[in-house]
Amino acid sequence: KPVINIEGLTKIFSGKTNVVKALENVNLTINQGDIFGIIGMSGAGKSTLVRCINYLEKPTGGRVVIDGVDLAGLSEKELRKVRQSMGMIFQQFNLLMQRTAIENITFPLEVSGIDKKDAHKRAKELLELVDLADKAEAYPSQLSGGQKQRIAIARALATNPKVLLCDEATSALDPNTTKAILSLLKDINSRLGITIVIITHEMSVVEQICSHVAIIDKSGIAEQGKVSEVFAHP
Ligand code: ADP
Ligand code: ADP
Repeated sequence: KPVINIEGLTKIFSGKTNVVKALENVNLTINQGDIFGIIGMSGAGKSTLVRCINYLEKPTGGRVVIDGVDLAGLSEKELRKVRQSMGMIFQQFNLLMQRTAIENITFPLEVSGIDKKDAHKRAKELLELVDLADKAEAYPSQLSGGQKQRIAIARALATNPKVLLCDEATSALDPNTTKAILSLLKDINSRLGITIVIITHEMSVVEQICSHVAIIDKSGIAEQGKVSEVFAHP
């Protein structure tokens, strides 16, 4: 069952002096439960694709369909709902530095109007899930990169998203920490059934956890399918 369906997506940035075709006729189907890698070099259009998936960027052409709903017809309020169903994690973690680990996790819950006590309970469970129950009161500056990313994952999961979008989520981490974070994501995928989209420029990341992959190359998808088929060795 497709969770993310992209048809003929085109995004053109028109400046005063230049025009950049960031994405051209991109077609992509990501199914429920996939760990889907989107790999490409810097400038290929990966960030633009992510921003179109959650409609922070409006496509110039084509359709983005999330869970059967075409985003083109939605109001800002409805779009916020769709965005809430897609948790995001980033290369630089984007944690709130003035808040403790647990406060970072309760933040999106409080924004969505959930009772403080319930939010706290949910955050505790998520801290357990990412194996950082003992760091609830730590500030981000007191945590390692891997620990910060675990908190960011817990925060992304707080609102029970269907999809976790990971934008270069391990690019700032060393190889061992990368392995640990990827294995946590794999665990989350199999335990919670959440669809995971991994944006990366690193082949090793795709090889370590992705079931499916799309290669994005100069603003278009060059190839997509099962990792075992796309990267079949002769
Ligand atoms: P990647 O994430 O793969 O590095 P991006 O999606 O950031 O690629 O960028 C794809 C292309 O679109 C690049 O040429 C970039 O300079 C251009 N681009 C991205 N965002 C904008 C923007 N807001 N305005 C103009 N050009 C942009
Ligand atoms: P990333 O490292 O994720 O590819 P970038 O550093 O390329 O991100 O882009 C950071 C921000 O700048 C984004 O909001 C992107 O849309 C914007 N941007 C990227 N390239 C350009 C460009 N050529 N002109 C204007 N804005 C751009």
